[in-house]
Amino acid sequence: MSGETVITRFAPSPTGRLHLGHAASAIRAHDYARERGGRFVLRIEDIDGTRSRPEFVAGILEDLAWLGLRWDLLVFQSERLAKYQAALETLKARGLVYPCFCTRAEIAASASAPQGDAAPVYPGICRDLTVEEVTARAHLAHCWRLDMAKAVAITGALAWHDAIAGAVVADPLAQGDVVLARKDAPASYHLAVTLDDAAQGVTDVVRGVDLFAATDVHRVLQALLGLPVPSYHHHPLVVDAAGRRLAKRDGALSLAEMREGGEDGATLAARVRGGDRLATSW
Ligand code: GLU
Repeated sequence: MSGETVITRFAPSPTGRLHLGHAASAIRAHDYARERGGRFVLRIEDIDGTRSRPEFVAGILEDLAWLGLRWDLLVFQSERLAKYQAALETLKARGLVYPCFCTRAEIAASASAPQGDAAPVYPGICRDLTVEEVTARAHLAHCWRLDMAKAVAITGALAWHDAIAGAVVADPLAQGDVVLARKDAPASYHLAVTLDDAAQGVTDVVRGVDLFAATDVHRVLQALLGLPVPSYHHHPLVVDAAGRRLAKRDGALSLAEMREGGEDGATLAARVRGGDRLATSW
């Protein structure tokens, strides 16, 4: 390539303690940059005001340091809300987003069945509200959704590259009219992550395969907002003995619990790098 500096990131949401799956993802992203003389960004995705907690931020820093990882830049999404708002205003001015007043229950009742863990595809209830209808409800809580069909009509066909899967033709219409600004936050995951990867110069997005389809949405936002397109590396997920993706609710040990149980962070990181103890699944 052009010899540009490789920049990767690990972008946890501080809504719980990290487990082995997070450790494996963070190590991959970190090592990818280090092996290429690049930089590693730690981005705390703390825009979820109801679920993000400061003690989990402290836990993330502690856990990564324990694993022996060092970051070159630490950023908090909560400090970048004005940037997300500005991008949303741009999309509003272009008529590409619309306010949505639906509750979760209303969406669940009329949406098509979700595939796996994915959120239901929004059935478009608020897409064609009249100006009068929107004005009458403007005082009510609402999110902002991307009108995906309109967006795709502008961007045309899009592709992106995954280091593991190869060339991917994006299918953003399958994601429907995703939320770009939430009822309780001026950005959604999709908008914040896309703007941040660009702002932080991320060249290689290393993350779990659970976010593979989300990349189609991010690719659309990049095209609409004139942002660079990084390379993607969607890696398999760490699973437990039952083949389930690690999750606290299924009793996955947190890194903090492993530490308290006497594990050594550097030894654990070495085992993760060697693939030991890591059953993975696509
Ligand atoms: N914050 C997201 C999560 O914890 C990951 C974001 C990303 O890697 O794009 O699942």
